[in-house]
Amino acid sequence: MKYVSTRGSAPALDFEGVTLAGLASDGGLYVPEEWPSFSADEIRAMRGLPYAELATRVMLPFVEGSLSEEELRGLCEQAYGRFAHAAVTPLKQFDEQQWLLELFHGPTLAFKDVALQLLGLLFETFLARSDDHLTIVGATSGDTGSAAIDAVAGRERIDIFMLHPEGRISDVQRRQMTTVLAPNVYNIAIDGSFDDAQASVKRMFNDPEMTGRFHIGAVNSINWARLMAQVVYYFAAGLQLGAPDREVAFSVPTGNFGDVFAGYVASKMGLPVAKLVVATNVNDILHRALSDGDYSAGEVTATAAPSMDIQVSSNFERLLFDCGGRDGKALAEQMRGFEASKAMRLTNAQREGAAHLFTSARCDADEMARAMRWAYEQCGEVIDPHTAIGLHAARELSLDPSIPVVTLATAHPAKFRDAVERATGVRPPLPARVGDLFSREERFDSLSGDYDAIAAYVAEKATPTN
Ligand SMILES: *Cc1c(COP(=O)(O)O)cnc(C)c1O
Repeated sequence: MKYVSTRGSAPALDFEGVTLAGLASDGGLYVPEEWPSFSADEIRAMRGLPYAELATRVMLPFVEGSLSEEELRGLCEQAYGRFAHAAVTPLKQFDEQQWLLELFHGPTLAFKDVALQLLGLLFETFLARSDDHLTIVGATSGDTGSAAIDAVAGRERIDIFMLHPEGRISDVQRRQMTTVLAPNVYNIAIDGSFDDAQASVKRMFNDPEMTGRFHIGAVNSINWARLMAQVVYYFAAGLQLGAPDREVAFSVPTGNFGDVFAGYVASKMGLPVAKLVVATNVNDILHRALSDGDYSAGEVTATAAPSMDIQVSSNFERLLFDCGGRDGKALAEQMRGFEASKAMRLTNAQREGAAHLFTSARCDADEMARAMRWAYEQCGEVIDPHTAIGLHAARELSLDPSIPVVTLATAHPAKFRDAVERATGVRPPLPARVGDLFSREERFDSLSGDYDAIAAYVAEKATPTN
């Protein structure tokens, strides 16, 4: 399988190449040259498979040329063997139409584990082949950092430097990162906001002093391999509810548009997806873009669903590329305009292309709390604030009542227990696998937000590329 950039000028790469590259060299994102697809019979034959086997079948076309089926199966068994639930992503019922897909049974309690556990193994496999070393540099507002650290801790050919804004993430989120004491893990608390930390990371990717000495890699959802791994659970849920002989809709708590884009890929591959609901909090750039074509960034408002507090959704570019006729040159132009003015209009082709499958809703703090209460009082399910936004959208939009709607549960409620307790009166306990989090030793360094200080820190500790 070959991958092309959404901005049309970076070289096409194979799966191994896009996994190690992250962002394309022209600033675009990699997408498969064409969508692989399964027939209804092939999808029917996936019913009842264990998750790791389903993952192997769904992902095989994407890794072709870089991994054999046996290699891929081995990696899937290893990655998903670490989940605390035998079904990996179990499906639960709310009522006759509403369902819940639990994606938080991985080691760090958020759906990001599903992709990052596999990505860590893919990095290790490909780096061993080229006898190279990878320096991962990232900024986190919470969930990505802990999932990425867990996925690469102790791996020989990888160092990870994770920046977080000091005092602005929850205690659970911080401790999930800082109590990992493996020698290749560097936690850095920055005196500044998440945006400041993110700006330093972006600068490092464009700093020839750093990129000349180190092979710097990305773990955020611009990395294609992450999206690919997320396609699998759309198939898992669809098959449970009768696919390919019955349509299913999904409601997805959305920030960077990675998770819901994976649903779009599943539909391209032949899964009968009736609708994809993009659920946002008050940071609603995607809701505005999908409902009236206005993609313009405002100020970020802090909410109880911090992983969705985002104003620019990187992966949206992948949808605009695919719906807008795959014209990389035109999209590069459009994105340059957006980067300069922080605003753009979607073209008619982009709007019409997206409207076939996508719908959207915005959810405020009261609506989020009401959805948490409904789930608890009517169905006995304690859900987290991000999931509640998805559930609110799923119930609020008038979707066809004959089609089941699956809300993606993106985080374990214990990860955001203060907000859950405020809405429901219930304080969800931490699951046993992270139960001693508050008695473990923490280790991190504090730096000012100054770029030179951060670059000097990384340069001193990281292993150069060969
Ligand atoms: C990352 C995250 C999201 C947003 O997912 P995207 O792929 O960025 O749209 C939603 N909920 C939780 C809990 C997350 O960690």
